[in-house]
Amino acid sequence: MTDQPASSPTAPPTGQLGVPPADAPPHWDLDQLYVLGSDQLQQDLARLEELRAAFMRHGARLAQDAPPSAAEFAGMVGELDQITRLVNRLSGFASLAFAQDATDQKALSFMSKLDETLTVAGNDLLFFELWWKNLPDGEADVLAAGLPDYGHWLSRTRAFKPHTLSEAEEKIINLKNVTGSEAMVNLYDAVTTRYRFDGSFLPDGQGRPLTREELGVHVRSAAPEIRQGAYRELHRVYGEQGPVLAQLYQTVVRDWRLEQVRLRRHPSPQAARHKANDLSQETVDSLLRVCRQRAPEIFGRYFRQKARRLGLPLLRRYDLYAPLAPAGGRLDFAQGLREVAEAFRAFGDDYAALALEVAEKGRLSARPAPGKQSGAFCASIEPGAAPWVLMSFNGQRQDLFTLAHELGHAVHSQLAGVNNVFHFHSSLPLAETASTFGEMLLAQRLAQQAQTEEERDALRFHLLDDAYATVGRQAFFALFEIEAHDLVEAGATADELAEAYWRNISEQFGDSLELSEEFRWEWVSIPHFFHTPFYVYAYSFGQLLVYSLWRVRQRQGPEFVPRFKALLARGGSASPEAILAEAGLGPLDDDFWASGFEVIESFLPD
Ligand SMILES: [Zn+2]
Repeated sequence: MTDQPASSPTAPPTGQLGVPPADAPPHWDLDQLYVLGSDQLQQDLARLEELRAAFMRHGARLAQDAPPSAAEFAGMVGELDQITRLVNRLSGFASLAFAQDATDQKALSFMSKLDETLTVAGNDLLFFELWWKNLPDGEADVLAAGLPDYGHWLSRTRAFKPHTLSEAEEKIINLKNVTGSEAMVNLYDAVTTRYRFDGSFLPDGQGRPLTREELGVHVRSAAPEIRQGAYRELHRVYGEQGPVLAQLYQTVVRDWRLEQVRLRRHPSPQAARHKANDLSQETVDSLLRVCRQRAPEIFGRYFRQKARRLGLPLLRRYDLYAPLAPAGGRLDFAQGLREVAEAFRAFGDDYAALALEVAEKGRLSARPAPGKQSGAFCASIEPGAAPWVLMSFNGQRQDLFTLAHELGHAVHSQLAGVNNVFHFHSSLPLAETASTFGEMLLAQRLAQQAQTEEERDALRFHLLDDAYATVGRQAFFALFEIEAHDLVEAGATADELAEAYWRNISEQFGDSLELSEEFRWEWVSIPHFFHTPFYVYAYSFGQLLVYSLWRVRQRQGPEFVPRFKALLARGGSASPEAILAEAGLGPLDDDFWASGFEVIESFLPD
């Protein structure tokens, strides 16, 4: 932007004014999208308004008894495609402007104004989706057959028809949710974000209250007593509030079953989520069955090796995220980007080029800056255009992996750019495929370059930490969730839920580490359980999928790369199972998932 204050991210991280050093990580050029207050932005907002008004005229046509002709229908879908692209471009810009500087008042007010506009427009256009959902099967089939390029989107929209209620009932649910389940979740957030933790376990922290985020840093401390102190304090606070938080949880769970099973007639509470994830119950069952069989043993071996490395007879639960290697030297950004590109070259020069294009086109913001959103993301706004990547590159090894992760997303997004706007984004279970693969390719390259056994070991432990946190831990979370929903239905008390959680983690860890009592209340501190029931298995799915594909790559050799690219290029134009099968990379059965564990096993140092 041309008129930003000095505190904007275009200023160097030191806060000094002036040109950043030549080797500083880049900042993106958001002007390519829009400039706040520009004519172009006003024109596109006006165009959106025109398109909306024009589209609304179809309402009268759809209200007639005779369904539209194939040509009329294609015209409407084409208009909706155009509208959706424009909406994504405008709202994408608004959120990127906010992400690059949350203190930018102009960006903030643009975002909230746009939100309002888009909510109204969304409601105005809803009639089309409702009409499509309610069209009799025969008529819908004829129309969909005329638009094969939009097939999956059209059938996905109708997939929820059996679970959709009348308009009046849907309105009542929406209204009652505000004061019902949503209020419960908001209350959970409001209560827990106010928790303050006693920092007196820290050598210099006598009495200083900590936020959860500040507390969380210390579970990765190099000092054993600090890790223990952090966990004890976390679970002291959540444990004391355990019965109240459990009551909130029971209400959320009951509401979920009431709505999803009793009213919407999904066969089970989890089935509603699988449908939204475009996955079959069999695939999820297979994933969780294999995780339950293999994770305790393989990660158990890892925990024992980690204990040996830390010089402990047995790992304590407190030591799970203990660091094993010193942080290492600082990396320079240009060198880091080169490393990532070289790693991606294992999949061809074109693959590396797609990653580099993000930086070359000025769509990579890697420079740390005040006001900039923490964390990292890759925003795919338009099919056929390079996506936008945001992160803060501080020269740490972890930043290199973050860069590989986000640029993996970017390659996925560019390969999927051949799809229409409704098929462009992959569904949640496949969304982390290229990103996690990017990290694996980087790890492979770093392992080849490693000079010493210590370096190779540090890398292996890094991969194992990641594998445990994403595959093992989340799969057992998912198993707990499934059980908890049934227990609540059967009238279980808060203590009985805590007992079930204790059984779950006891099975997970066996005798591979020492578990302390306070962890029985850990589940009330996991926001996903409250916010998005049955979400967590998607983490295990995405990560184990990549390990299994890595194994497929080892078996298939050079045949694999074009198949993998074909998978990515499908975006979200079919279900994950269909995309994998078509690319010759499935089926997602027990053997497939078990082969992913072989890859995790290969990280285990001897
Ligand atoms: Zn990601």
